[in-house]
Amino acid sequence: MNTSIHWFRNDLRMADNHGLTAAAKTGAVIPIFILDQTDRQLGGASRWWLNKSLKSLKASLPNLVVQSGDPITLLPEIIRQTNAQTVTWNRVYEPHSVSRDKRLKQSLKELGVNVRSFPGSTLAEPWETETQSGGPFKVFTPFFKALKANYSNQTIPAPVDLELVDVPDISKNIDEVLPLPTNPDWALGWDSLWQPGETGAREQFSHFAENGLNGYGENRNRPDLQNVSRLSPHLHFGEISANQVISAITMLGQDDPALSEDIAKLHSEIGWRDFAQHLMFHFPKIIEQNWKPSFDNYPWVENEAHLKAWQTGQTGYPLVDAGMRELWQTGYMHNRVRMVAASFLVKHLRIHWREGERWFWDTLLDADLANNCASWQWVTGSGADAAPYFRIFNPVTQGQKFDPNGDYVRKWCPELSRLSNKYLHCPYEAPADELSKSQVKLGQTYPFPIVDHKTARNAALVGYESIKQVAAG
Ligand code: FAD
Repeated sequence: MNTSIHWFRNDLRMADNHGLTAAAKTGAVIPIFILDQTDRQLGGASRWWLNKSLKSLKASLPNLVVQSGDPITLLPEIIRQTNAQTVTWNRVYEPHSVSRDKRLKQSLKELGVNVRSFPGSTLAEPWETETQSGGPFKVFTPFFKALKANYSNQTIPAPVDLELVDVPDISKNIDEVLPLPTNPDWALGWDSLWQPGETGAREQFSHFAENGLNGYGENRNRPDLQNVSRLSPHLHFGEISANQVISAITMLGQDDPALSEDIAKLHSEIGWRDFAQHLMFHFPKIIEQNWKPSFDNYPWVENEAHLKAWQTGQTGYPLVDAGMRELWQTGYMHNRVRMVAASFLVKHLRIHWREGERWFWDTLLDADLANNCASWQWVTGSGADAAPYFRIFNPVTQGQKFDPNGDYVRKWCPELSRLSNKYLHCPYEAPADELSKSQVKLGQTYPFPIVDHKTARNAALVGYESIKQVAAG
């Protein structure tokens, strides 16, 4: 009997899994997952998610082998122990994984193993979308246009009659490989907010399709409303594929043409996800270095107290604080608030984007190397097709515009909840009687702003001028 190994990575699903289906067609399947200890280590929130997601996958594939270590040595060892003849995987594009997979493919072929890799997580492979001169894109709009022009959606169902080979003695326990937090259990309550795994992904999509999609285009910037999909951790771990989402929304659009603008907007946001992968694949330096080298000379500030205030949601700017607390308490932050909070760190506090990227990496359930680094660089202005540096978000007016009734801030900063809408986003401007009536004691129940908006904005612009001069000189 032919035995195939399917090596799961960020494709923790049964349906639309080309590698798994190919393995099933070749023979009986041993599914494996290896926590790669030689790569950048996962953040705490991601480890929580992965623990649960692997348990969900194991419910579908009881013979799932879970290992941790170096895949370069572990995979050949498992092949030897199981006599597998074929190995399949779906491709991932982090620079470390690309070079690891290349080496593994070569060495396994030399051992006589049939190795097959498949498209995995994006709408198109990063090298398939090219400029007219055959190079990579650096700007989103033409990238997305080209992506759509060549797009062919080929989702496939879960394999039927999957034959599984039992190999109990080589698997580690999921809780040993990815221990859940205890003492303190900072993920307390997350089970009621999230359902990691393929079933959870499907249910989250259906919930969004029924309750959020209609109005997504207009309201996706409103953290106080429920119009975003919250699919990002499911997409990151591949519990639902981007192609499945596009197929499903395209069908919804055929049934209800009034949804066309919402669907187009969601399609383009998922396009941004592909763009980040495209950039990371072609320009791997984006994950650690400024895309625009002029930013290497930016006068970044080191200030532990400011960094801590930002991380813990104690900056004195309610929208920023609400976002940072949402992140800590739920493992998620709304995109508009991510932009404002990130901008506050790099521009108002002039702390390097890498500090913010690191914090998000540890605390976001959807922490994704490409999306996180590309987005941080986008906000900073150091990235490809980035927001211009001089566009500095005002956290007060952003709050007034995108959380007009203050529901979002009141939820995450309950100590401000009695303030009127007029002062909710700028409590430091409230008259003494309003503060006292609302039981807000600045400096005690809620902080004074750690920096003054205008002064901080000017300092950021002076810093920017200095790198422009270096670049010009
Ligand atoms: P929806 O609006 O419902 O979008 C659907 C899907 O499209 C998302 O799940 C995501 O996969 C993709 N998407 C949406 N917006 C973007 C975007 N701007 N860039 C790339 N893909 C996008 N996203 C991550 O998945 N992981 C990260 O680590 C991450 N870090 C970020 C850091 C910063 C500083 C910023 C400003 C944004 C970051 N994003 C990241 C992008 C974006 O904020 C999230 O993808 C989005 O908020 C997820 O929520 P959702 O699923 O409800 O989004």
